[in-house]
Amino acid sequence: MPEKHALSAEHAEPSIRISPKGSARLKAGHPWVYRSDVTAPDDVPPGSLVRVTDLRGKFLGTALYSSSSQIAIRMIASEPVADLPGLIAHRIRAAIAYRRKFVADTDAYRVVFSEADFLPGLIVDRYNDVLSVQILTQAMDAEPMRGAVVATLVEEFNPAGIYERVDPRIRELEQLPARASGLMWGQKSSTVVAMNGVRFHHDGREGQKTGAFLDQRENYAAAAQYAQGEALDVFCYQGGFALHLAPKCSSVTGVDSSRPALEMADKNAALNGRELEWIEGNAFDLLKDYASSGRQYDSIVLDPPAFAKSKRDLEKAMRGYKELNLRALKMLRPGGILVTCSCSFHVSAPDFLEVVADAARDAHKFLRLLENRGQAKDHPILLNVPETSYLKCLIATLSI
Ligand code: SAH
Repeated sequence: MPEKHALSAEHAEPSIRISPKGSARLKAGHPWVYRSDVTAPDDVPPGSLVRVTDLRGKFLGTALYSSSSQIAIRMIASEPVADLPGLIAHRIRAAIAYRRKFVADTDAYRVVFSEADFLPGLIVDRYNDVLSVQILTQAMDAEPMRGAVVATLVEEFNPAGIYERVDPRIRELEQLPARASGLMWGQKSSTVVAMNGVRFHHDGREGQKTGAFLDQRENYAAAAQYAQGEALDVFCYQGGFALHLAPKCSSVTGVDSSRPALEMADKNAALNGRELEWIEGNAFDLLKDYASSGRQYDSIVLDPPAFAKSKRDLEKAMRGYKELNLRALKMLRPGGILVTCSCSFHVSAPDFLEVVADAARDAHKFLRLLENRGQAKDHPILLNVPETSYLKCLIATLSI
């Protein structure tokens, strides 16, 4: 018995006890335990694999530990884990199998979405032959984990490049040493992708997120089904919606405050043989000017950045959404199409429907909901982890 114990991986890693509140959270299916629910974690090294137990010492599962995040524990398995890099490789392969089954018509999609793929702290996006990796936690930053990630991705995709996008703010929060973005594998960091038959340049070193808003990919195709006439894409970034609408519309204008984003949007238009109008400016000011000068459109897309970064911003965010939607509705012709989005996790789907309904009421207009949508399926929503669901996209038509 003692010998068997000595060989068991179960006892190789540190143990962490959690409060009844933390245990209840795990039992409800959520993978996080907050620092306030962890007892005496002082001697646990940053980024460790830990055994999680309740106050009586009953084993609850295996987790990855962060010594700095408020989310101290992210569960990784309900059993003991002997070979963590092996488990990571297995989970990446499972994530890829899910995409092969449910993602179509694109060579640009999210391959690994952190907790939603049981790989907390890891994000991988595929852009054709270039992969983009984001590492968000102490545990995932460890060399054996990085090695497992790169080896598995190379084996599965044989990419021309794997580029790591570093968010310095996250490394600071996780108390990880500074690190520059750069290639983890191969030589290539830019390429061309195609989604829904529309082509886009990708430069792994530039832009927001890992380059594109892949979570909107299915919404681009849905919006294109309804779009018509003169279209305005507000917060257009590199032209995701605008370029999808172009084949269906007589004209498309994209608006964004970022000049580099618009320069890329223009290159993307050329790549697809289209000429679109791009306007650099503040969307709030522009909508105000356009609305007061009586400009009208047949299709309007609103896809602003997250207004509510935390719960505290909720009220302000709701005012922002209301104002935007109100202004857009004033410029929409009867029978027109409104595509309106929110990527703020803290604004729930019912909250967002209500704010758009409020805007319609204030504009003395009636909107019929055509589609109530969310994020693309390569950004899976895990039902017990509300944080995995954040994108709202309503497609509606103005009836009067
Ligand atoms: N619709 C885009 C994603 C939009 S992301 C797509 O599908 O790819 C939000 C965009 O809003 C960013 O490009 C950012 O530059 C822009 N932005 C942020 N604040 C703005 C403002 N006040 N006015 C105009 N654009 C703004």
